[in-house]
Amino acid sequence: MAPTAVTPVSPPSPTLDSTSKLTKAGTENTIAKTVSNTAPAVAELDASKCTITPTLNPKRVPAPNSPEVWSQGYTSDHMLTARWTEKSGWESPEIRPYGPLSIMPTASVLHYATECFEGMKAYRGDDGKVRLFRPDRNAKRFLQSATRIALPGFAPEEFLKLLKRFVGFEASKWISEPGHFIYIRPTMIATAPALGVQKPREALLYIMMVMFPALDEPTAVPTSPSSGTQMGQEAKGAKGMRLLASNHDMIRAWPGGFGSAKVGANYGPSLVAQGEARERGYNQILWLFGEECYVTEAGGSNFFVLWINESGKKELVTAPLGDGVILEGVTRASVLDLVRRSRPDVEVVERKFTMEELIKAEKEGRLLEGFGAGTAFFIAPVADIHFRGTDVVFPLGKGGDAEFAMGIKKDLKDVMYGRASHEWGVVVPEEKVY
Ligand SMILES: *Cc1c(COP(=O)(O)O)cnc(C)c1O
Repeated sequence: MAPTAVTPVSPPSPTLDSTSKLTKAGTENTIAKTVSNTAPAVAELDASKCTITPTLNPKRVPAPNSPEVWSQGYTSDHMLTARWTEKSGWESPEIRPYGPLSIMPTASVLHYATECFEGMKAYRGDDGKVRLFRPDRNAKRFLQSATRIALPGFAPEEFLKLLKRFVGFEASKWISEPGHFIYIRPTMIATAPALGVQKPREALLYIMMVMFPALDEPTAVPTSPSSGTQMGQEAKGAKGMRLLASNHDMIRAWPGGFGSAKVGANYGPSLVAQGEARERGYNQILWLFGEECYVTEAGGSNFFVLWINESGKKELVTAPLGDGVILEGVTRASVLDLVRRSRPDVEVVERKFTMEELIKAEKEGRLLEGFGAGTAFFIAPVADIHFRGTDVVFPLGKGGDAEFAMGIKKDLKDVMYGRASHEWGVVVPEEKVY
C-alpha cells in the first residue's frame, strides 16, 4: 500500500476514549455526528412552525413573596411543548395553556430516568426590557444533557428561538415590573410507551415558567411552612448559607458518571442527604468526593472559596471540570470570567482542593469567603461548613462580611437587569398579548 493511501489517524487521547459515547468527548462526538447528517430523514426542531393557543382561563399573578410564590409550583398561563418521534422527528412546537401532560404508565421516563432539564431566569430590567442571561450556554448544555441520556438532538439555536418566543409571550403579564424575574424550566423526557430498556423512540420537550422567590435576598422569609427550597437561615438569625459536608457513604457523582449532565437522575438520590441537612439546620449538602475529601459542589450550585493561598496570594478556587464530577454552571463560568477580567489582584484557579486545605486555611487565618453560585440561589455567601465533627467557619459566620461575593453579585445583577450593557444580557422581544 502506498503511504499516501494510509488515512492519518490522530493518536488516542491518554484519558478519553473518543469512541465511548459516555464521556464528555463522546457526547460531543454524538452531537457532531447528528449535526453533520446533512440530509435529515426526519423533521428538525423548527421554531418558525410554532403555533399559539392562548388560554381561556388566565390566572391571577400572585404577590411577590406570597405563599404561592414560595410553593415554587405556581406557573404562568402557558407552556411550550414539542413532540418528537423516531419515525418523523420533531413535530410543530406549540405554546398552549399550562396543564397536565398525558403519558402512559409505561413511558420510559417513569422507569429509566430518561429526563434532563435546564434552569434559567428571565429578568425585567430597570429600562423595562426583558433579558435572559447567557441563554446560549443553557441551550448548548440542554443538548449535551439530552445526548448523554439518549434523548433526541436539536439545533440549539432553534431551541433558543422557541424559548425567546415563549418568554416574550408571557413576560408582559408575569414579569411586569422592573426588578421582577421568573424561573424558566426547559425539560425533556422520553415518552415512548414500552418497558424495553432501549433508546427512546418518542420524546417530549417542554418549557414552563414558575414564580420563584428571591432565594438570595435577606428579606426572603417564607410565609408558608411547606415552602420547598427555603434558605431558612434568616429565620434562625444566621447570616449566610450553612453547609453540611457529605459523608463517605453518600456520593453525588463520580468520574465516568453523569454528574456533569443536568439530569433528574442526579437529584432523586440526593434528597435523603438534603433532608438530613435541613433537619440539622443546614441549607445544603456540600458534596465531597473520594478518600481525600475533595470539595466538589453544593446542592444545585457550584462552590467557590476565596483565600490567601500558601504562597501568600489572594486566590479564588473552584473544583475543575475535567473529570465530569461537577456540573458546568453558567454562573460558575461567569464568575470565573468576571474575576479574571476585573480583579487582577486575585488569582483564579480551577483545581481539586480538599476539606483538609480549608481547615488548615481557617486555622492559619487565610480563609476569606466561600459562596455558592447557580441560577436558583444566585450568589450565596457561606457562613460555615460542618465536616464530620469539625466546623469550618468563614469570617461571615463570625460577624464579618462577604464583600467579594457581594461585589460579584452586584456586577452580575447589573447585567441581568440592564444596568450595565453587556453581551451576556440578551434582550427578548415581547408580544403584547394581554
Ligand atoms: C444547575 C446546577 C448548577 C448551577 O448551574 P447554573 O447554570 O449556574 O445555574 C450547579 N450544580 C448542579 C448540580 C446543577 O444542577
